[in-house]
Amino acid sequence: MAYTIPEKLKKLEIYEPVTEAYDIRLDANESFQNLPDDIRRDVLKAVEQVEFNRYPDPFAVKLCEKFGHFFQVKPELLTAGNGSDELISLIVPNFLESGDTMLVALPDFSMYTFYAQMNHIRVEALQKAEDMVTSAEDILKRAEEKNARLLIFSNPCNPTSLKLSRDDIIKIIEGTDALVIVDEAYMDFAEGSVLDVIEKYNNLIVLKTCSKALGLAAIRLGFAAAGRELTDILHALKSPYNVNSLTQAVGCAILDHPDYIKNCIRSIRKSRDELYQELLELKDRKADILNLYPTTTNFIFMKVKDAALVFEEMKKKSISIRYMNGYLRVTAGRKMENDAVIRVLDELLR
Ligand SMILES: *Cc1c(COP(=O)(O)O)cnc(C)c1O
Repeated sequence: MAYTIPEKLKKLEIYEPVTEAYDIRLDANESFQNLPDDIRRDVLKAVEQVEFNRYPDPFAVKLCEKFGHFFQVKPELLTAGNGSDELISLIVPNFLESGDTMLVALPDFSMYTFYAQMNHIRVEALQKAEDMVTSAEDILKRAEEKNARLLIFSNPCNPTSLKLSRDDIIKIIEGTDALVIVDEAYMDFAEGSVLDVIEKYNNLIVLKTCSKALGLAAIRLGFAAAGRELTDILHALKSPYNVNSLTQAVGCAILDHPDYIKNCIRSIRKSRDELYQELLELKDRKADILNLYPTTTNFIFMKVKDAALVFEEMKKKSISIRYMNGYLRVTAGRKMENDAVIRVLDELLR
């Protein structure tokens, strides 16, 4: 007798984000704003009161109340997760049977496909054209052709930074009997959320994260918002204590400062707009910038000649951005950081 490792586990690749030290980190779409001292004090106070010997609240009730209040969602329709990544890993395999088809439009967030492949789910990929635009019609047509049972996409999209309009998303939800997962990780930087219609459709789950606009990537916190029926299922599916007490305490402490959060969002949008303007100007002078996509997120996506080389050269200057298959993705940072990116690109590109 000998144990053999399942085939699907043999070719697994470890997710390796940037962990080296760089002076400028614009590779993970994090917020450039760390907590200010006064809010940090509230956070520490909240942590001090944690009952470390007790299991966390399994449904993170207080946290859902505060998050729901900020985003105007009924708290009882929220499911908190250990990052929205956990929720994706929960939804994709469990809402599909082995052999079912899930539809994605690529490029998009890589984790959707990862969790599908791990669970013998067929992935049907609609490949976006050079303009990176998709339409409700294309998505619905392909979903029907392939009998997709689940459609999942980020809106606005990571990495393209484009979005489908709210009308288009609603057209998709209404035009299919598949489950539709709309990952709104970046909707805080844009308009067109469908959070307010979760009760109207029994085939919609909206995902939110605290890792981007709220600047809380460290605490791992995300939410799924859906109607009653789907929420009951999510509550039953999730592992009982998925969001730890420290994260719940910190999340509550920050959501008690809605003005701070709104300010953060404003400054990120401002930085994003400034970076985009500067890149537009650079594009006028640099033929090497082949395509600069409009942005509705906290990052900019562009096609650059010899992108891999540019990416490596930037690393040598201690600037970390994201390279993806011929494209570059740059998170909006502090003014100094944006300036450094522009300066180095100006040097490197012709
Ligand atoms: C960053 C990101 C998330 C967030 O994941 P967390 O696990 O909540 O940090 C989710 N979806 C997309 C598309 C993202 O870019």
